[in-house]
Order: sequence, then structure tokens, then C-alpha cells
Amino acid sequence: TAELLLKSEKLSIVGQLAAGVAHEIRNPLTSLKGFVQLLQMKTGGFREYFEIMLSELDRINCIVSEFMVIAKPQVVQFEIKDLRKILQDVIALLDTQAILNNVQIHSEIDEDIPLIHCEENQLKQVFINILKNAIEAMPEGGDVVVQMKADEGSIDIRFVDQGCGISEERLALLGEPFYTTKEKGTGLGLMVSHKIIEGHQGKLQVQSQIDVGTTVHLHLPILQPHSLHPSKPVAT
Ligand code: ADP
Ligand code: MG
Repeated sequence: TAELLLKSEKLSIVGQLAAGVAHEIRNPLTSLKGFVQLLQMKTGGFREYFEIMLSELDRINCIVSEFMVIAKPQVVQFEIKDLRKILQDVIALLDTQAILNNVQIHSEIDEDIPLIHCEENQLKQVFINILKNAIEAMPEGGDVVVQMKADEGSIDIRFVDQGCGISEERLALLGEPFYTTKEKGTGLGLMVSHKIIEGHQGKLQVQSQIDVGTTVHLHLPILQPHSLHPSKPVAT
């Protein structure tokens, strides 16, 4: 079994660079896509070329969207929320996709989870990223167990899959931006997730064993509202 604590140093340069650039790319991209679609309708030919262009434009859009999570500290709004419900909503959201991939999501969520001060949309993003990775790691299907427990002063969430696993060498690359082993991957999901959890003063740990599976462990402290500074960018 190999284990890794993702390091925040890997994120700082990207966080700063992404801020302006991500936003500026969005608008021209939208207009480019619109005109490509228009051209596709008008010409009626070159089907393959248009499909490639459109799917590549979607890919750029996907990368930019993930960057925007890091890049926009001003939309971050910390509120007292029910983490149980947030996680249950995400599981419900991904259940159809899971079933289509022969994956069963089992939730073991304790009843006595205290409300916490957190950013709902950001945590949703984290849960989605981790669950999607779990589903994608099991092309033949399998089970994902999602556990949530409250401890003294903290909430622990575990996502346990029975997927392909990650070797020790590759585990060390997980925090790097653009590190992906997937044809359509962005290699940003885990980096963004780690950034968000860090913004909640928590920890994201990945444990994995090849061909056995992967466990992603989130450790979130139950904070008093004043110990977070959502108005300041979390980039280090
Ligand atoms: P992406 O999913 O776009 O590739 P991520 O940052 O979400 O980007 O993940 C980076 C890489 O980490 C993946 O390409 C995959 O190789 C590996 N990985 C992440 N989660 C898992 C998992 N649950 N099981 C196996 N490999 C994983
Ligand atoms: Mg991913």
C-alpha cells in the first residue's frame, strides 16, 4: 500500500497564473464554438473535421472551467451547511452515471454529522471529482463505498473503490496539474479538490494498491466561522 499527502507547493504557481487567464479565454471560446457550429450547418460537409474541432473546443472549455474553481475567490461563500445532505445530493446526481457503468455506490453516512462552516459548491465539486474518478477506475464495474463519520472536532469522509489502483510512482504525480492517464482527462480534478480542501483547512489523502483499489480520505475540521477567511484568495 502506498500513501501520499498531496503538497500545496505544487499548486501555488498555477493558482496565480490561472486567475486572469481562465476568465479571458471563456468568451472568445464561446464565440468560436458558435461560429464553428454555424459553419458546420452551412457547409454540410467535412463532418469529421467539424466533430474534432467541436470536441477539442469542449476540451478547452473543460480545462478552463476547472481552472476557474481556483481562480475565483470572490464567488466563494462560506455558510453553515449540512455536509450529509451535500454528499447525498452528489451521490444522487452521479447514481445514473454509476449504474450505466455497472458501478454501485453504497453510502454509509452517519446520522449525527454536525453542521459545518463550508463552501457548498466547492465541496460538491470535490465529491463529484472523487466519485467520477472512482467510477472511471472501474471500467468493468464494481462497488464504491462512501463513508462519513463525525469525530471530535472533525468530519471524516472516505471514498473506497475497487478500481485499477495507482502505483507508488504514479501516486507521487497526483498533485501535478495536467497529470492524467485518461484519454479524455484534464488532470486537474484532484489538484482542484486538494486546493478546495486546503481552503477548508482540511486534508486530502490518497491510498492505493494496484488492482485492489483506491481510498480517498477527506479530513475536515469543524471550524468556527471566524477561523476562515473566504475574502482572501487561498492561493499560497
Ligand atoms: P483526470 O480524472 O482528468 O485524469 P484527476 O486529477 O481527477 O484527473 O486524476 C488524475 C489521475 O489520477 C487520473 O488520470 C488517474 O490516473 C489517477 N486517479 C485518480 N483517482 C483514481 C482512482 N480512484 N483510481 C485510480 N486512479 C485514479
Ligand atoms: Mg478526474
